[in-house]
Amino acid sequence: MTDRQSIAIIIPVYNEEAVLPALIEQLNEFRSSRPVIDNIIFVDDGSEDNSAEIICELTAGTSGYTLLRLSRNFGHQLAITAGINAATADAAVIMDADLQDPLHVLDDMILEWQNGYDVVYGIREDRHGESFLKKKTAELFYSVFKKVANIDAPRNVGDFRLVSRKVMDAFAQIREQQPFVRGLMSWVGFRQTGVTYTRPERAAGRSKYSFRKSWNLAIDGIISFSDRPLRYAVRLGLLVSTLSILGLVWIVAEKFFDSGTIPGWASIIFAAFFFGGLQLFFLGIVGEYLARVYAEVKGRPRYIVMEKWYSDDAERRVTGDRDFQPATSPQ
Ligand code: UDP
Ligand code: MG
Repeated sequence: MTDRQSIAIIIPVYNEEAVLPALIEQLNEFRSSRPVIDNIIFVDDGSEDNSAEIICELTAGTSGYTLLRLSRNFGHQLAITAGINAATADAAVIMDADLQDPLHVLDDMILEWQNGYDVVYGIREDRHGESFLKKKTAELFYSVFKKVANIDAPRNVGDFRLVSRKVMDAFAQIREQQPFVRGLMSWVGFRQTGVTYTRPERAAGRSKYSFRKSWNLAIDGIISFSDRPLRYAVRLGLLVSTLSILGLVWIVAEKFFDSGTIPGWASIIFAAFFFGGLQLFFLGIVGEYLARVYAEVKGRPRYIVMEKWYSDDAERRVTGDRDFQPATSPQ
């Protein structure tokens, strides 16, 4: 098929200097026998180490590498978004820098794409070298997400996937401030399939996903694909009100048939703490949605590209690109 001839690989990079030499070596070797891969886009997500310099040094003079430097750390999801919006190939593969997404899986992905699929995601059959806690929390997230989200995203699937030009164009029209990429890639639809692989350990360096970043990703995922937390709050509120009316009836009845019992202090304090906690919790949920509405209304650019660099022409540096704006149709 004529529109399925070139692929870009998009790699978000945040403080990955320990793994970059091995990664670039593997990429060079892999590409040499696969001409379909014509561009590799590194998105430097505001690294504080020498990741960007190392990429330039190791790829200068080799054709087909692009480095997009973001002006600060915008986070993994926005780094991927910047990469997708910058790619011009017929398809793109999103993969991590740490070699946890093995290159050989690309062969299966490319095959499925050439068979006509628009999204080919990698399903993690086994995860090596990740802590028990990380695996368990990931499992918990996937099951909660499956229950509450109003899209049907596959389980045990991260951002490692191939997406066709149609999907990239559809994705570019999504202007969410905090995009949950794997969810949105399911949301866009088209023909989707998966290939399984075993996820190896990180080749070098340490995970860049702190507990805080993982937590934020999970909350972003749920909030952006579900309004159920708000509904649950309403239902629980109704249930508690009904129970309290029953309680009231009971208290009045007791007054009538004065049995001489003195109401306990402990139960009052318990009720005060319990309902206080419940109210704060639900206020927090409402706040999460409100904060997102606020971020959307401000409509700031989601990321800022500080510089674009091309390995074939190392002197050429383009600066001052902004967040990709899709062409707006005349009103
Ligand atoms: N990453 C990024 N920005 C961040 C955090 C991570 O671009 O703020 C990149 C990181 O360099 C890696 C990928 O996202 O290429 C996945 O991160 P990591 O491997 O640390 O996550 P894990 O596999 O431990 O979940
Ligand atoms: Mg990793």
